Amino acid sequence: MALRTPVIAGNWKMNTDIESDLELARGILEQSDAVIGVEKIVCPPFVALASVSELLRGSSIHVGAQNVSANENGAYTGEISAAMLKGLTSHVIVGHSERRALYGETSGDVTAKAAAAASSGLRPILCVGEALEVRQTGNAESFVADQLESSLAGYSDWDALIVAYEPVWAIGTGEAATSDQAQEMTAVCRGVIQNLAAGAADSVRVLYGGSVNSGNIAELLEQSDIDGALVGEASLKADEFSRLIAAAGTV
Ligand code: PEP
Repeated sequence: MALRTPVIAGNWKMNTDIESDLELARGILEQSDAVIGVEKIVCPPFVALASVSELLRGSSIHVGAQNVSANENGAYTGEISAAMLKGLTSHVIVGHSERRALYGETSGDVTAKAAAAASSGLRPILCVGEALEVRQTGNAESFVADQLESSLAGYSDWDALIVAYEPVWAIGTGEAATSDQAQEMTAVCRGVIQNLAAGAADSVRVLYGGSVNSGNIAELLEQSDIDGALVGEASLKADEFSRLIAAAGTV
């Protein structure tokens, strides 16, 4: 069994401005730069990528983007390509449920974005997760398996990939999945990877996301298929995000 380095990734969404992005990044740098044994990632909005990545350059904290275009270049007003992100970020979130629900991103779009990211040397953090109605009808496992399989159709850069299982009903609600539910579903994700690329299943990190905080992180990280967390709300406070990093690594 491969030893997988845990990942703690913060998605700041559209909650900050350039000044507060820098303050937050500075706080995380001070408190978490020295923590070892964990991959730390912050994902500020596009407008702050240059200043935050400049601030964190040479540190142990990686910078990710929250989205990327599937297209290489051309007449795509308002879009940002993977090539543009190169040098600023090492990671990029693709297929977050907010983008799927609010901007109509399909699993086909998500595959194309993940492939575009990986071919530019970026690591995609590919999100999947079921809505509450799906869970209530007992179909969460097959829904997420299908969603991940179709989001990875034709994808081949397994070394770069990080997967995040994020049940929609747990995002921003304060109601995290139980550690048993999260384990069950991250194992489903690993099973899909096993079917698509047997050799990769042991090494691809599968994260849990949805109302993770310093009170529930330890139990989640104890689960055998959970390799870390993608974090929204709790990533907006340097102290709280640093507690998550400390829980996953060695201080
Ligand atoms: C997210 O949006 O990816 C997320 C996990 O948010 P929160 O931690 O706030 O539930």
